[in-house]
Amino acid sequence: MSASLKAKIAEVFEEPGCDKNQAKSEKERKKGCTKQLTPGAAAGGCAFDGAKIALQPIVDVAHLVHGPIACEGNSWDNRHSASSGSTLYRTGFTTDINELDVIYGAEKRLFKSIREIIDKYDPPAVFVYQTCVTGLIGDDIEAVCKRAAEKFGKPVIPVNSPGFAGPKNLGNKLGAEALLDHVIGTMEPATTTPYDINIIGEYNLSGELWQVKPLLDALGVRVLSCISGDGRYAEVASAHRARANMMVCSKSMINIATRMRQRWDIPYFEGSFYGISDMSTTLREIARLLIERGADPELRQRTEALIRVEEARAWERIRAYRQRLAGKKVLLITGGVKSWSVVSALQEAGLEVVGTSIKKSTKEDKEKIKEIMGDDAHMIDDMTPRQMYAMLRDAKADIMLSGGRSQFVALKARMPWMDINQERHHAFAGYEGMVEMVAEIDKALFNPVWQQVRTPAPWEAADPLLRAPDPAQLAREAQPA
Ligand code: SF4
Repeated sequence: MSASLKAKIAEVFEEPGCDKNQAKSEKERKKGCTKQLTPGAAAGGCAFDGAKIALQPIVDVAHLVHGPIACEGNSWDNRHSASSGSTLYRTGFTTDINELDVIYGAEKRLFKSIREIIDKYDPPAVFVYQTCVTGLIGDDIEAVCKRAAEKFGKPVIPVNSPGFAGPKNLGNKLGAEALLDHVIGTMEPATTTPYDINIIGEYNLSGELWQVKPLLDALGVRVLSCISGDGRYAEVASAHRARANMMVCSKSMINIATRMRQRWDIPYFEGSFYGISDMSTTLREIARLLIERGADPELRQRTEALIRVEEARAWERIRAYRQRLAGKKVLLITGGVKSWSVVSALQEAGLEVVGTSIKKSTKEDKEKIKEIMGDDAHMIDDMTPRQMYAMLRDAKADIMLSGGRSQFVALKARMPWMDINQERHHAFAGYEGMVEMVAEIDKALFNPVWQQVRTPAPWEAADPLLRAPDPAQLAREAQPA
């Protein structure tokens, strides 16, 4: 690992916004947060993947992956981050290095690739991602990017986050460091207002930002930059002129919020767009911070008026669903900010959350879960597919909300499932998103297919001996005594 990368990782672990890190001794902190992986277990994404998913939603930039083609293949567009304009971010650029490059170095190939992209697409900037192989052969992407930027007169941003540096969430932060080192503060916005905010850690998945933006527009609050959903290079570069920052997902890019507070004195708060009351709290917090920073205090009354109207409309729209969903039990297998923000949204929909996973949650996330669900909150640190299966088959939950990888557990148990992770096709943010989420849960729960798949097949009905063994019973028997 190069000295500069080591220093950068050490800097990221110094994060003042992370209570867990601050509570550690200096020696412990140096070891970082990476947990030893269990042999044979799926490890999730690498640091490169983390940096790429954090930055790829900047839509007008060319994202060039310096490495073998598989790295780009693995990370290309695996989330539904939407754009209201340019689609350049969805074009997969890679240097696609070969054996000779591994032997002789691939810096020249990288330089030529940057030139080709600028000649053909003329983007406002090129982001260059380091990967394991090019990191190990010692390609200095920072030097190549610097040379290319001088030669072509365009920002060429090195994102030094090779896969071996650590897990995906470290990659999110290393991606954020690239923005802090090379992008934010390098341009000035055409105009500024006392109502300018940045939203950090919002990726506009399936268009979620667009469910929130009309509310901010109605209040006259301008999103100077969203980092990084539906982002534009120039907006991110001028983000340092905002009056306040909102952190949407605390684990992913908190270093941007804390560093912007240190460098430009921009305060931040952590909020959520999921659920009716959390959306209202977020709007109140935005108004509070902006008023503190010089906006007209009458913004508070306008915010309260908007909240009154929007809340009433949302409650009215979910009323019929609430009656049908009342008392239905949900198993929530997700992580991070969603482990608590989605809980409160589900409770508002009348559902009972029987368990929420906290594997990828921070200490603050866990505190929030306790606040919402009480001290007996059923927090699940790690749940094996077999345990999920048994829980669903024993009808301890009526529906599972999780990422796509666990869907087959629910389907095998013949129980409803809904995608709540970043790959989902539905947007669940704001008041509008709450209605959509409740409607989707209702569709999944009351889909007639469940009745059909639970009915024994004709040959099973005719001969009980042919009936498939009860997998829940098998799972229980397989548990160690
Ligand atoms: S672990 Fe390395 S080789 Fe694999 S995708 Fe990540 S950067 Fe590429």
